[in-house]
Amino acid sequence: MKEIRSIKTKLLIRIILSFIFLSVVIQSIVFVSFRNFSMNASKERALSAAEIIRDTITSFMLLGVYDKRDVFLDRIKHANGLKEIKILRGKAVMQQFGQSSRHEAPPTLLEDEVLKTGNIKSAVTESAFNVEYDIVIPYKAVADERVKCLQCHQAAEGEVLGAVSLKVDITAQRRTGASMLSYMVAVSLLFSVGTLYIIYIFFKPYTELFQRLRQGFDHASQGDFYNKIDIIPADEAGDVARGFNTMTENLSKTLSSIDNKVSLLIGYQITKTANALKDTTKTVDMLVKIYNFKRTIEKDAAKNDIFLRIKQMMTEMAIEQFTVYEVDLDKKTMTNVVSSDSAEDGLSEAIAWCDESILTNSDQCRVVRTGSIVDCREFPQICQCFKGGDANQRGRYGYFCIPIYIGGRVGDVVQIVYNEVNDEHIWSVIPYIKAYLQECEPVLVGKTYMELLRRRSLVDQLTGLYNRRFLEEISNTLCSSALRKKTLIGILLIDIDHFKQVNDTYGHDIGDKVLQKAAAVIKSSVREADIVIRYGGEEIIVLLVDVMEGKSSDVAQKIRQNMEKESIEIPGGAINKTISIGVSEFPKSADKFWACVKLSDTALYKAKNEGRNRVVHHSP
Ligand code: GH3
Ligand code: MG
Ligand code: MG
Repeated sequence: MKEIRSIKTKLLIRIILSFIFLSVVIQSIVFVSFRNFSMNASKERALSAAEIIRDTITSFMLLGVYDKRDVFLDRIKHANGLKEIKILRGKAVMQQFGQSSRHEAPPTLLEDEVLKTGNIKSAVTESAFNVEYDIVIPYKAVADERVKCLQCHQAAEGEVLGAVSLKVDITAQRRTGASMLSYMVAVSLLFSVGTLYIIYIFFKPYTELFQRLRQGFDHASQGDFYNKIDIIPADEAGDVARGFNTMTENLSKTLSSIDNKVSLLIGYQITKTANALKDTTKTVDMLVKIYNFKRTIEKDAAKNDIFLRIKQMMTEMAIEQFTVYEVDLDKKTMTNVVSSDSAEDGLSEAIAWCDESILTNSDQCRVVRTGSIVDCREFPQICQCFKGGDANQRGRYGYFCIPIYIGGRVGDVVQIVYNEVNDEHIWSVIPYIKAYLQECEPVLVGKTYMELLRRRSLVDQLTGLYNRRFLEEISNTLCSSALRKKTLIGILLIDIDHFKQVNDTYGHDIGDKVLQKAAAVIKSSVREADIVIRYGGEEIIVLLVDVMEGKSSDVAQKIRQNMEKESIEIPGGAINKTISIGVSEFPKSADKFWACVKLSDTALYKAKNEGRNRVVHHSP
């Protein structure tokens, strides 16, 4: 990833670069000006020396002491600080007077050019240690009264007679320039450092503020709004810092107020992480889900649908092991209605984690008994009925059991089983599970009471058998199922013999007791799937579901014999009562159910007439 440079670094880099640029430009200008100045000075000096040399040599010629010129040239060389003086003869002079007696070195290119063109030429020769300035100045023939060149020289006016070539050593000037330049560099460096320091001090609070702002925004994007900026410059930047602080403060206040309200709403404190934003999003998400869950289960038709939704919710929460038990408030029994292992449609009978005794006696379950949450973290053996899976794994699993209250009593129990691995996850989702279950409560209460009411309206209070209304409700379903499956329903109509006598002799209470006994005997004589109904008075109808043809009478005989053998205790002794049974089979005896009932009734009448305590099968 490309590293982001801070404003401070950027600012310093830019200022340093502009300082360097400025000082390079200024020093270059100074350097060039100084160089030009020293060149011009040297040129001026050389020009004046050349003029003096020309005039003096001319005078020497006129005075006839031309051969003494070396003394003069030596002097002028020293006086003007010249390194070399060369007197050159032009073409015309050479022709007239021949080579000079001074044994000059042969002319350089620069000198040749000046002799040819008659223009002043100069050049600088630079090496690491010295600088030399060469200037060649031509002498031209003039018809001037004062110099009178043409008097002696056979040349045309303006023709180049000769030239003086001077070499000036300007190494000292370069040295002066260089030291001046280094002074300037040092001064500007000092100045730059000073300026930079001032800028650095001035900008420091701002760059730090920016850094804090950056950190603050980084934290905020991670959902942490507790970062305050403590650098408050006394200008507009201070307003920015204060604005940031107010913003984060408001945000964190708002988020925690949302959290608190949600906690109040669902009744549990939600686990918080360092990321308040994520927490709030998660909470609101959950609330929406819980709200939708509530709306959905309110429209569910049966309690079982709600149990399946609980299963769905638990699976979504990644709870791997759980069981939901329903408590029968009347019978004080428990049923495993749904579990993590149960099939989507069916209820599984087996219970994996608890002792089976809770199924037949709900008070064995600690949640039912105490009416509160059972959490193994209080101490591992808090519930004696928790088996902890198979024997080898005993003690390795934890459990958390939550009650759902129906009418002030525990109507359902949700058991969560976990091991160390998903431990942490469990504690993070339990508040939400509680919230979900809380939403289930009123709906389950409604449904449970509806079922109870309905069950009670279909059950006879005295005998605990179904009543006639129940028969009317199920007869159609039962018949169409038998027709579809091509099976028979045995219809046994039972009447206690001389029952009126019991009432008359021992009173109504004993009569009721006999009736209850008869009901119990009949119920225990048939299969669980068979339906026993109090048809009216002391008449009981038994529907033998899926009976083999002709076998109904055998069952009836068994019932009759069991009843005959049963002695019923009464104050001061015991009595035995007999029953008569009329039998028919649907749809064998008649193609309509109620017609069959009628046929059983006729057979019963026949049994009574034939002497009672007998079974009569309807005969066409
Ligand atoms: P039978 O052998 O011919 O059946 O003689 P019975 O005396 O049993 O005659 P019946 O079946 O007609 O008698 C019905 C009696 O059952 C009438 C009523 O007093 C009594 N009875 C009906 N319902 C109840 C009840 O709930 N409790 C009690 N104690 N008696 C009932
Ligand atoms: Mg009767
Ligand atoms: Mg009777």
